[in-house]
Amino acid sequence: MADAAPTPSPLAHEVADMRQRIADLEAALAAQQALVQALGARQGAAAQIVETVRDPLLLLDPHFRVQSANSAFYRTFQMIPAETEGQLLSQLDHGEWDMPAVRTLLEELLPQQTIVTDYEVTQSFARIGRRTLLLNARCLDAVQRILLAIEDITIHKHAETRLQQQQTRLERQMQEQMAALHHDMAERQRLEREAQRVQHFATLGRLAAGLSHEMRNPLAAVFLYVDLLAEELHDPAPSSATAIDQALTAIKTHLARVDDRLQDYLALVRVATLPQAPVDLTTVVTQWAQEITPLLTAQGITLQLDALDQLGTVMLHPPTLRRALLHLVHNAMEAMPHGGTLTLGGRRQATTVHLEVRDTGIGMPPEHLTRMFEPLQTTKPGGTGLGLYLVQEVVAAHGGQIAVQSTVGHGTTMTITLPLGGT
Ligand code: ADP
Ligand code: MG
Repeated sequence: MADAAPTPSPLAHEVADMRQRIADLEAALAAQQALVQALGARQGAAAQIVETVRDPLLLLDPHFRVQSANSAFYRTFQMIPAETEGQLLSQLDHGEWDMPAVRTLLEELLPQQTIVTDYEVTQSFARIGRRTLLLNARCLDAVQRILLAIEDITIHKHAETRLQQQQTRLERQMQEQMAALHHDMAERQRLEREAQRVQHFATLGRLAAGLSHEMRNPLAAVFLYVDLLAEELHDPAPSSATAIDQALTAIKTHLARVDDRLQDYLALVRVATLPQAPVDLTTVVTQWAQEITPLLTAQGITLQLDALDQLGTVMLHPPTLRRALLHLVHNAMEAMPHGGTLTLGGRRQATTVHLEVRDTGIGMPPEHLTRMFEPLQTTKPGGTGLGLYLVQEVVAAHGGQIAVQSTVGHGTTMTITLPLGGT
């Protein structure tokens, strides 16, 4: 009979069970030890990290009691572990850390946000003086501790304040210099205007002297003819009617010359204060062209009008500009004593309009071109040298310019450029 397998005794069963439990316990213990070791290693590593951080750090328990501090903390606040560890933050360093702002940070802000960054406080410490600190606080959830990092930004703050002060000072200096510059510029412009006025009036003075000299001859002639008239009227003769007629014509001619000079002079005196109004340039120039046609025809000069339509609107004092244009026409006529062609031309551009007076006369050598706008510059025996000076002043008073092109023996073109404007 085969033996039946021996049934394990209940005792053996219990022993096996015990062995298993011991093995389980040993395994659990080993795991725990490994965990403790790992934790220890991590804590050691964390402590090392805390130590290497250059900014002061405090580790607080949930009641804000200092558990530990790093050496940066001790160095910065000149404290030692014995008076720090285990102390309530509010009692640390004789209560110097008991700041309302810090209390707000720890008791109000931190529970809501778990991390508070760059919270600025300023405090006077007995050992290190007045400091501005930047606080960064963080709840370490698992262990319910608080890590408080403290950055001393006092020097930064000082530098920042100094920088701001310097910047403010620089800005103020710059503003002062700009104001001075503006003032200088305004003053220089004023002086320039003043100098121009002085020069203008000096010129007028010279012109007035020339004018009185010029008027003396026609006025003397007028007196002569008036005497003659008186004689003829007092003692009439058969030829008196003709003599009186001739005398009156001569008086008129001389008075017209005097009037002409006076008009020029007045135009120059008033040139800066001419009342201007928007005027259609085509209309006025065409009208002036009609006025001068008989004069030109009489001298064998053909008048040509070239592109005078649609010249646009210009701010003008028509009688004065007419006077200036007539001076150009007279010069052209004097340059063509034996006839020729006088062209009045127009050219409209984007913001300006050109007006040309072109003749086929004697022309001018280059050395005359620059000087001829100066007052009293003339090459004519009976000339006044006033025409081109007046033209230039009048054109400038209308915000424009005048240019000249000339070839000896071929002719001259005077070009007036005026700004378009008005409505
Ligand atoms: P004036 O006609 O009294 O001489 P202006 O000032 O009108 O004075 O002209 C100055 C000078 O410029 C003239 O004497 C002349 O030499 C020269 N000039 C002006 N316009 C012309 C022209 N169209 N052709 C040739 N020469 C001219
Ligand atoms: Mg002239």
